[in-house]
Amino acid sequence: MANQDFMVYNTLTKQKEVFKPKLPGKVGMYICGVTAYDFSHIGHARAYVAFDVLYRYLQYLGYEVNYVRNFTDVDDKIIRRANELGEDPLKLSGRFCQEFLDDMNDLQCLPPTHQPRVSDHMDEIRDMISQIIRKDCAYSVEGDVYFAVDKFPAYGRLSGRKTEDNRAGERIAVDSRKRNPADFALWKASKPGEPSWDSPWGPGRPGWHIECSAMSARYLTSSFDIHGGGMDLIFPHHENEYAQSCAACSDSNISYWMHNGFVTENNEKMSKSLGNFFTIRDITKRYHPLALRYFLMSTHYRSPVNYSISQLEIASDSVYYTYQALFDSEKALSTFREQQSAKGGKNAKAERLTSEAQNCIKKLHTDFQIKMSDDLHTNDILNGALLETLRLMNKSLESLKKKKQQQPSQFHSLIALEQEVREVMNILGLLSSSTYSEVLQQLKDRALKRAGLTEEDVVSLIEERVQARKNREYEKSDQIRLDLSAKGIALMDLSNETIWRPCVPVEQEHLVEPVTTHVLQNKLVPPVSKCVEQEQPAGPVSPLVQLEQPVEPVGPVSPLVQPEQPVEPV
Ligand SMILES: [Zn+2]
Repeated sequence: MANQDFMVYNTLTKQKEVFKPKLPGKVGMYICGVTAYDFSHIGHARAYVAFDVLYRYLQYLGYEVNYVRNFTDVDDKIIRRANELGEDPLKLSGRFCQEFLDDMNDLQCLPPTHQPRVSDHMDEIRDMISQIIRKDCAYSVEGDVYFAVDKFPAYGRLSGRKTEDNRAGERIAVDSRKRNPADFALWKASKPGEPSWDSPWGPGRPGWHIECSAMSARYLTSSFDIHGGGMDLIFPHHENEYAQSCAACSDSNISYWMHNGFVTENNEKMSKSLGNFFTIRDITKRYHPLALRYFLMSTHYRSPVNYSISQLEIASDSVYYTYQALFDSEKALSTFREQQSAKGGKNAKAERLTSEAQNCIKKLHTDFQIKMSDDLHTNDILNGALLETLRLMNKSLESLKKKKQQQPSQFHSLIALEQEVREVMNILGLLSSSTYSEVLQQLKDRALKRAGLTEEDVVSLIEERVQARKNREYEKSDQIRLDLSAKGIALMDLSNETIWRPCVPVEQEHLVEPVTTHVLQNKLVPPVSKCVEQEQPAGPVSPLVQLEQPVEPVGPVSPLVQPEQPVEPV
């Protein structure tokens, strides 16, 4: 266990609080999952990477975590898409659940303990609706069941919205059968051509919000530690869940509500209607999934992430830099390790590390504890102590190239540095199960794809450049190098050969001195992205009208209109 208290920002209390689980050593955590009707996009990647980091960190702290993440597999959007494709809705959603799981696997998000689907939990959902009706907090009308917000005085507590600000009928068509326009559907009467399930109120299907209340109660009981999701789920989804769960069970108590920030592009929120969103697949075809993960973790989870190709390039370069340092260390240490084992481990006594390595390891360890325990500041670790440790590893590797520097303490220092880096990367989910060289090759393959070149193309350009230099055609040889670096391919002249590695594409006018010089001196350090943490805006005060029609996902300062459809956590 770490020495620091683990502080988390709680949307309910709007402050950072010390994390204290309800049961010692155990954590129950429910994260709202995807509506499976299409490929998942970068907003999903952002949410599930953020909560994967939380899951991994809680486990690192020694907690046994029961992590539940649902699949919405019954929903208007799924039915609409299935009708368009002439496919069974559950078959379509089943297909996209699997695509989502493949994306999560690529992004190194650990599988949750339970991944319940709505269609498998109709009994729990119907039972909870019956309970809410019994408690007089819901009413049925012509086969629909609505939650009565007036019967739940704490309604609006999570989002900070107020029912008295409700101005029903103002420019918004309200279902006249609702007692209050803010009332929302728990059960929807079936319409022709839709999948339906029997219920005491007639055939139909659940409203969107009730599934999470029912499934969290099923796997975590009504009282658990963490409920999370994208910031756009605070209202109406989580506000409604909070109301349903408390109405159904007076003991219901969720300690911490955690929400991740949006993904923006040019500081505008991404959305399908604006056409400025990307699927995870779109991105991972061109960038390594670890680069996407690294990019998302380079900003604090509650701040908006501004999506840009240049930031993805920087993240990709950082991942390459990291794996290159690990690969070089492994190579440099392999001979040393062989020699040690040939000696039969006789000299295996603990060697003193260099003071530089000792300080660096201590700093990485301490910074990791401090930054992670402060509401998961992954960004500060990546751009700070981890980067410094990698730089020291590269510096040690350089000095180990000289015979007289090859002291056992130098080797042992490198071993210790590598171990510490691996541990931190493992907790952050950045350590691949592939070998270092495999990851480097995967990064190179994608760099070639982005450059529109093949390995053979690059090799023949290198040969062309060698020939040009032999012929003293320096302008030509320089141009080859410049053209390649503009495409994200950096050439490195070693003593007897020229090799290449991916780089952030260099704009030619910015090239003052050859890239190769930087690379050779191990100075090709990834630029540090600027990360600005922003506190979550306070909840707005606006009308509490609930629409039956889906509206576009909106930011936290929008009117209080309740879509019955899942909105995209982008
Ligand atoms: Zn949910």
